[in-house]
Amino acid sequence: MASERIVGIDLGTTNSLVADMQGENPVVIPGEDGSNLVPSVVALDQNNQPVVGNSARNFLIETPERAVYSIKRLMGRGVEDIQEELKLFPFRLADDLQPGEVLRIKLGDKTFTPPEISALILRQLKRNAERYFGAPVTKAVITVPAYFNDAQRQATKDAGRIAGLEVLRLVNEPTAASLAYGLDKKRNGIVAVYDLGGGTFDISILRLHDGIFEVIATNGDTHLGGDDIDNLLITIALDDIQGDLGLNVRRNAEVVQAIRKAVIDAKIALSSQPSTELDIELPQGKRYQREITRKQFEQLIQPIIDRTVGPVKQALKDAGLKPEQIDEVVLVGGSTRIPKVRALVKDLFRRDPHTDLNPDEVVALGAAVQANILGGGSVATENMLLLDVTPLSLGIEVAGGVTDKIILRNSTIPASATQFYTTQVDGQANVAIHVLQGERELAKDCRSLARFDLRGIPPMAAGMPRIEVKFLIDANGILHVSAREQRSGKEAEIQVQPSYGLTDEQVESMILDSFDSAEEDFRQRQIIEARNEAATILAALEKGKKTPAWGKLTTDEKKKIAKLESALNAVTNEDDYRAIRNAIEALNQATTHLAELMMDSAVSTVLKGKTMDEADMGEGPAAPHPVAKAEFE
Ligand code: ADP
Ligand code: MG
Repeated sequence: MASERIVGIDLGTTNSLVADMQGENPVVIPGEDGSNLVPSVVALDQNNQPVVGNSARNFLIETPERAVYSIKRLMGRGVEDIQEELKLFPFRLADDLQPGEVLRIKLGDKTFTPPEISALILRQLKRNAERYFGAPVTKAVITVPAYFNDAQRQATKDAGRIAGLEVLRLVNEPTAASLAYGLDKKRNGIVAVYDLGGGTFDISILRLHDGIFEVIATNGDTHLGGDDIDNLLITIALDDIQGDLGLNVRRNAEVVQAIRKAVIDAKIALSSQPSTELDIELPQGKRYQREITRKQFEQLIQPIIDRTVGPVKQALKDAGLKPEQIDEVVLVGGSTRIPKVRALVKDLFRRDPHTDLNPDEVVALGAAVQANILGGGSVATENMLLLDVTPLSLGIEVAGGVTDKIILRNSTIPASATQFYTTQVDGQANVAIHVLQGERELAKDCRSLARFDLRGIPPMAAGMPRIEVKFLIDANGILHVSAREQRSGKEAEIQVQPSYGLTDEQVESMILDSFDSAEEDFRQRQIIEARNEAATILAALEKGKKTPAWGKLTTDEKKKIAKLESALNAVTNEDDYRAIRNAIEALNQATTHLAELMMDSAVSTVLKGKTMDEADMGEGPAAPHPVAKAEFE
């Protein structure tokens, strides 16, 4: 039996697609309705059965409370991150969301997390592929925007798993598009990928070195795309209808929808012909008819497409490149079919963009190429490091046995990152660096990769040393870790091979594990952090009692502090981090006056308003201590 197929999937904001290799060439797999694109729309029918794609679109008009679109905007995000999206899109959040809880969206009277909704889209694509092959499909490569952070990538992987797909890899959309054009075969060069889709604009600058793509700059506008063109045309049509025909149909959802469909058809027609006709039936036997030429259309949309210029210039600037230094330009997204957009891109980069492949299919096609490479298929090269990413996060153990991640999993390699730490004890001469791999919050639950000490730090007060810990994964997947105390120049380093001896199954089970225990991990981490903080404030208070400021407090103040101090002491060893936090807060409040007196008697007027634990960096158990970078800058 042939080895199982791995499909490539573009999970888009507006449209999603699945593709596969057919011989040397990737092809998109059509759905039952013959269409290559599955609109990223999900609805629940009256029997609470999920409906996906074209058939779900009708629900958006008829029962909008049972349908959702643009779910990609919410993937891996918290309520705080999505206020803007909530203003612009009709997302209905579950009523009983707790702070910090994963988002849930209402469909009818049920609720779903964004990964669950995306999983319904993925399931549809999986079904389409299975129908096409007549065999089960369980493995996929899925694309994500280059700017997606770890949480958004994680959420995408979760969606795959929920849909019954093993996600062998997440690939950046611009990288996939470049792969579809076989640009990796050029081995070296700079590629610009201009992606104007339905609702988002992304510009990515990639550096190709020895066949490996590295994203060197990204920019864009998360609220710019074909939808803006559609909305502009709808507004014009509504104004015309009111002006010429004396009809106000703005509140008639069905008519507005008919207008939307007509203007989109017109827009698409104008990408391939010089003029088209809008012809829309209206209530009261009226009819809106209008000829629209490409020239008129281009004038109308100019301000919209001009909004892509700023982000392109900024991305070039961030990459430190001039337009002439770009070797290849790739067009992605349905809206780049518009000739005027193509002309603008040509103008910006002073070269012809690649246009041979369908811009709304090219990402899925590239995902299929990557899937084929991973499966050791027909286009696999001997260089299997192509587009590699690090499968698990890498970091170090910090105070309290907590993991501090330095390179996040799914980072494309080569990758490097630096974090700063300090000491927790006065005169601490040695710092133990414990290198960890895994997703868990606590060091003991991660895989220990290596340990080394940074020794001989000259005596300094706690918090003074500035220890720079640098992680670098080279193109061969070897991890180099170095630690350097910047004030003294003391340094130490080590090399480890993070993936050595770790099977895919182990990686997978570690990831699964992190889900099963996410809640408990979170709680443990909160407890440790709360205890550290309690130790800091209690130590600072001890110091404060020995200063003249203490004598200036009233007996009542002292009594109150003593009472809250013993209350904090009493709860620190319990497992209730909220109780510890409350006790800290209470003691902090009660010691504000003391802190002020201490500061007055010292020099600082700058620190006014600070509470006890901020006024004096206290002491705690020895270990590297994460510090805010800003402290040194
Ligand atoms: P996304 O990446 O956001 O999921 P797509 O790449 O599929 O989206 O792009 C969808 C957008 O492309 C829609 O706004 C659609 O109207 C537009 N589009 C598709 N074909 C054409 C065309 N021929 N001319 C102009 N716009 C088009
Ligand atoms: Mg897209």
